Amino acid sequence: MTTIGHFIDGKRVGGDSERRGDVFDPATGRRTGQVALASAADVAGAVEAAERAARAWRDASLAKRTAVMFAFRELVNARRDRLAEVITAEHGKVLADAAGEVQRGLEVIEYACGIPSALRGGFSENVSTEVDSYSLRQPLGVVAVISPFNFPVMVPLWFVPVAVACGNAVVLKPSEKDPSAALLLAEWFTEAGLPDGVLNVVNGDKEAVDALLDHPGVKAVSFVGSTPVARYVHQRGSLAGKRVQALGGAKNHMVVLPDADLDLAADAAVNAGFGSAGERCMAISALVAVEPVADALVARIAERMGRLRTGDGRRGCDMGPLVTAAHAERVRSYVESGIAAGAVPVVDGREVTPDGDADGFWLGPTLFDHVTPEMSIYTDEIFGPVLSVVRVGSYDEAVELVNANPYGNGTAIFTNDGGAARRYQHEVEVGMIGVNVPIPVPMAYYSFGGWKASLFGDLHAHGADGVAFFTRGKVVTNRWLDPRHGGVNLGFPTQT
Ligand code: NAD
Repeated sequence: MTTIGHFIDGKRVGGDSERRGDVFDPATGRRTGQVALASAADVAGAVEAAERAARAWRDASLAKRTAVMFAFRELVNARRDRLAEVITAEHGKVLADAAGEVQRGLEVIEYACGIPSALRGGFSENVSTEVDSYSLRQPLGVVAVISPFNFPVMVPLWFVPVAVACGNAVVLKPSEKDPSAALLLAEWFTEAGLPDGVLNVVNGDKEAVDALLDHPGVKAVSFVGSTPVARYVHQRGSLAGKRVQALGGAKNHMVVLPDADLDLAADAAVNAGFGSAGERCMAISALVAVEPVADALVARIAERMGRLRTGDGRRGCDMGPLVTAAHAERVRSYVESGIAAGAVPVVDGREVTPDGDADGFWLGPTLFDHVTPEMSIYTDEIFGPVLSVVRVGSYDEAVELVNANPYGNGTAIFTNDGGAARRYQHEVEVGMIGVNVPIPVPMAYYSFGGWKASLFGDLHAHGADGVAFFTRGKVVTNRWLDPRHGGVNLGFPTQT
């Protein structure tokens, strides 16, 4: 049984805490390791290492920082298959999906390779006579990144490369459910030339999170996880005077208008509903069918679902298991509550025969029709392979439904009417919108983030927002003496 520890000051360490959590292979149900759950003292050790490293790293030239980033990009690229295997072994998502996650992470590293352009300031000559002004952005110091189980590589990489490239030192706290990938990333960053202490990983649970939120040495916190914890992290971190961006949960709607290409829409609904067993913050969990399209659409989706293979992610299956036995049980209980509430189970995932170990955490893709907005399968973020079809009579009803939802992460509209799509992107209160694209995750050079209960804080992840989050602005007003400088003047400075 392996024990998964921390990575502090450039090396793997076990930590002081006696507390341990279990790590499972979700496709076999077997416990494969134990993860050390950091104490507040472990966290303090990591923050101190980061503080020491941050002093020199902030002064490292942009050339040095980008050289490290390029080398790291090459290592991750060359070892992407290894990373995907580690993801699948602890998370359960199928290998192809894990490889896609690594690819999206690589794109943020590549964005961070271009940090000299992103950090460029502005310069104005002669803002007053012979006075020049320029702006610059400087790192914050030590920042914390706290990530969820569902993207053990991509979500840390949304933040870590940008934070490091901006000159910060980082303490990363991955999910205790799949802790191994983050340690590999930290080791490979060190191999790429990152000085010891600039990136530290502490594994742990709430105790480690609270210690990071309270530690005065941590200047900013990037969090991704469920909405209740995101809200809590934002409040506690803000009270402690930190800058906080806390990305929360989601309930993403896909609206299908009557003129849509129904085969395209059905493919998209299946891909976005059941990819990664629905354990994606951008998964589609509510399909809003604008009548008279519902019958034809539901039939097409059900037909495609019949061809999906659920099983071990290493066997070429389409969909893997859920992350833990407890989570599989929770999702299963939503299927039961949907039936009890009167929704029509078109496909019942409880009946699946998985291509995998009988002890795996299985639940097959599930499709409910005639779901209404009061049912818990509609109101709650289930985070599993359960797709709910809500039938509405018009476009206006669809928009009203989406905007009434407390979450606002992602949404998609399927239509061939450009005017309707344009109206939708204008009217809908959601941060990321796809037009005939079911999972509209922005590229690394744009910023990722939702609205309403899907994001607490102001700035989104990566892209320009990421750089703004991990830096502070300064403006310098500059005057070099020349023979014409003249005299005492107590008036407020104005341009002359
Ligand atoms: P989670 O909220 O349970 O855990 C997230 C992180 O918070 C983990 O590191 C965990 O150790 C820590 N944590 C858990 N409970 C805590 C507590 N009470 N106090 C302090 N820290 C705590 O989330 P999860 O189950 O790991 O991930 C799934 C959730 O993340 C879903 O709700 C999903 O929508 C969301 N998510 C959102 C995005 C986004 O971009 N908005 C992206 C990925 C996942």
